[in-house]
Amino acid sequence: MEEFILRVENVSYAYEEGAGMAVQDMNLAFRPGEMTAVLGHNGSGKSTLAKLLNGLYTPTVGKVTVCGMDTALDEHTWQIRQSAGLVFQNPDNQLVASIVRDDVAFGLENIGVPSAEMPGRIEDALRDVGMLDFIDRAPHMLSGGQKQRIAIAGILAMRPRALILDEATAMLDPKGRREVFSVVERLNREQGITVVWITHFMEEAARCRRVIVMDQGKCVMDGTPAEVFTQAERLRAMRLDVPPMVALGDLLRARGLRIPREAMDIESMAREVLACR
Ligand code: ADP
Ligand code: MG
Repeated sequence: MEEFILRVENVSYAYEEGAGMAVQDMNLAFRPGEMTAVLGHNGSGKSTLAKLLNGLYTPTVGKVTVCGMDTALDEHTWQIRQSAGLVFQNPDNQLVASIVRDDVAFGLENIGVPSAEMPGRIEDALRDVGMLDFIDRAPHMLSGGQKQRIAIAGILAMRPRALILDEATAMLDPKGRREVFSVVERLNREQGITVVWITHFMEEAARCRRVIVMDQGKCVMDGTPAEVFTQAERLRAMRLDVPPMVALGDLLRARGLRIPREAMDIESMAREVLACR
């Protein structure tokens, strides 16, 4: 197996000649099966990075590779789009057809999948996101969370190695947010799909195994949630919060309870608090 699914080497990106660098001197690599959260204040370069990672943008300086393929080479364009799918924030801008089935088929047609193979792929993808029962429904009648899961199915049908989600839950209600995050978490766990989860929800980041923080176009922190979220002062300086359970853990420790720093989500916090009795 290759060492890296997505690789960013000395990459800078400017939207226009002479403009400032939206991404600057970035070096990053994502291994097969990793699930990484990317945090950063507005304008820190997260969306630019997302588009660099699937070849929608090509670097002004440096090199991005997807499964070893250089995104700057035209000959790889389709295979790269197929290998690293990008999900955007607004579910309404991503659905193109009037029936769910056709929407999931759209990408497959683009990459020239034989039509006999399509129904099976579409059904597998919809089953994977828990939306198979909606195959004949109209996407515009669905909730935001359901629409995002259809958008994810459209990518899954292409059998990607990586999913890049750019604030895919930002416009959803809490229920939709949980649905979409759990689906992606499960795809990562069960199918080993490499996930780059861009978010401003700290509780989501706390559930990823790796957390990257961007500031002014640079990657300034990269570690486990425990390594990143224990640096509350540094995060605050970048106008970021710590996850709610990390803040709660700090308060409880200050009052003498022995809560390990690794307890960063509601479940593990509940377990630790009960164990204190
Ligand atoms: P984030 O997703 O973290 O909010 P972006 O990647 O969207 O950050 O933006 C990084 C920088 O690039 C910001 O300074 C932003 O103003 C600039 N930028 C983003 N999109 C464009 C664009 N289409 N044209 C020019 N500048 C842009
Ligand atoms: Mg953005």
